[in-house]
Amino acid sequence: MAMNSGPPSRAQLSAELERLRARAERLDAELAALVRARSGAPDDDEHDPEGEPFSAQWSLRTGLLESARADVLQAEAAMQRFEDGSYGTCLTCHGPIPSGQLEVRPFRERCVSCS
Ligand SMILES: [Zn+2]
Repeated sequence: MAMNSGPPSRAQLSAELERLRARAERLDAELAALVRARSGAPDDDEHDPEGEPFSAQWSLRTGLLESARADVLQAEAAMQRFEDGSYGTCLTCHGPIPSGQLEVRPFRERCVSCS
């Protein structure tokens, strides 16, 4: 990323949102594949020494998917705030979020002291 400081541009936010959406879709597809593999497999794969038990894989991926979806929602909300001009304003104290904090986490909704 360029060294010049400043809040992210709309194009950067949009690219990041697309990246998050792609990640959520990939996790969703992985879960679907896991279900398909499960339905074709014998019931005793919980005892398969070669791999993680299905339940562990399932809970890992559903956790990742939930957090990926939450990231997408947060990113969409940030895009919305960008459109209405409130992007970069802390939701709690209504002060400006320092651009250095936005560079690290472009979709942050609160300044460091409020979050
Ligand atoms: Zn604040």
